[in-house]
Amino acid sequence: MERVLVVGGGVVGTMHARQALLLGHSVIQVEADAAPRRASVRNFGLVWISGRAAGPELSLALRAREIWASIGRDVPGVGFRSDGSLTIAQAPEELAVLEAVAAADDAGARGVRMLDPATTRALNPAVKGELLGALLCTQDGVVEPGRVLPELRASFAATGRYEFRPSTSIADVGPGWAEDSRGNRFDADLVVICPGSRHEGVAASMLADAPLRRCRLQMMQTAPHPERLTTSLADGDSLRYYPVFARFPLEKLRPPSPLVTEHRIQLLVSQRATGELTIGDTHAYDEPFDFAVEEEPYEHLRSRVESLLGGPLPPVQRRWAGVYSQATDDRVCVRVSPAPGVVVVTGLGGRGMTLSPAVAEQTFAELGP
Ligand SMILES: Cc1cc2nc3c(=O)[nH]c(=O)nc-3n(C[C@H](O)[C@H](O)[C@H](O)COP(=O)(O)OP(=O)(O)OC[C@H]3O[C@@H](n4cnc5c(N)ncnc54)[C@H](O)[C@@H]3O)c2cc1C
Repeated sequence: MERVLVVGGGVVGTMHARQALLLGHSVIQVEADAAPRRASVRNFGLVWISGRAAGPELSLALRAREIWASIGRDVPGVGFRSDGSLTIAQAPEELAVLEAVAAADDAGARGVRMLDPATTRALNPAVKGELLGALLCTQDGVVEPGRVLPELRASFAATGRYEFRPSTSIADVGPGWAEDSRGNRFDADLVVICPGSRHEGVAASMLADAPLRRCRLQMMQTAPHPERLTTSLADGDSLRYYPVFARFPLEKLRPPSPLVTEHRIQLLVSQRATGELTIGDTHAYDEPFDFAVEEEPYEHLRSRVESLLGGPLPPVQRRWAGVYSQATDDRVCVRVSPAPGVVVVTGLGGRGMTLSPAVAEQTFAELGP
């Protein structure tokens, strides 16, 4: 049995802790903040298979989805639901792209097929707005981002080989050791650093040449919606963001409005187990990021959801922004080993909640026995 130190309490660190425990190691996981409060708790909780690029990324996502389903059985508190998703076409050009995706070779593996408007409404009666058709993805799922990390940690504690130390910021690392900002030393056979978008600090020199950027997104959440959404939802603007669509005639889509272009807006909606709707998002890449959230994109997103649901949204109760770290080339994540026994994993982008269980499995497979 080896001693593994996991640096970072987000979902990527937590899935690496899970994998280390599965392999029989003992794990200390440290988190700089008093509790994880970054990307891993600010997201939609979407386990999003439909948009993944064909090939290795889709295979990894499908493996991750399998692991999420098994975590959902073992740790029901994470709230895994295999609800599926509907990407809704409200313009003929959007419909044409979705139909092309549904006709592609990997449609079966992806679990996608086209629905006409009546079938869409029968499947998800909360969708009462105007639509021309929808791409159903039966593989998409959802978890509760506010519950995943504490529920997983509680399940790890039962092994007797796991310890979580919040408010512990690792300042220096070398082969077989790490030291926190108060000078406390940790001896470990393996140090796995999962710093998320904190590219500065202990991981800075290790990531200096890595193809990474950060992205800031605006999100909001309503009061509980009176009706259950049986699937998550996406609108036609999401076609510009997911690699699966890039193979199809996107140039024929109507140009987006200046506001949508400026804030790179797409609509995604997931419903919490308790009924609230989590709605987003925008994409900003220019740093330093604004400290404030902008109202105009929220107004746009509200009108887009209302046009899909065909009625007014419940009041918005929470607004926030989140930042993720994203690999800028075609790799799924950045994984570097700057010294023996030290690995850094980040850059999963807007798919970290989805892919993290399979990325963690891959990290340990690459390290070997
Ligand atoms: C608004 C938003 C919506 C998203 N929606 C989805 C979605 O629906 N589905 C999906 O698949 N993905 C989604 N994502 C992406 C996903 O949330 C991220 O890819 C994922 O959470 C990244 O996890 P992480 O553990 O790498 O990073 P983080 O959650 O940022 O965690 C990293 C942690 O490491 C800690 N840390 C860093 N350095 C140190 C150190 N030196 N010592 C100790 N601790 C340290 C930080 O404090 C932090 O808590 C979304 C992201 C955002 C921002």
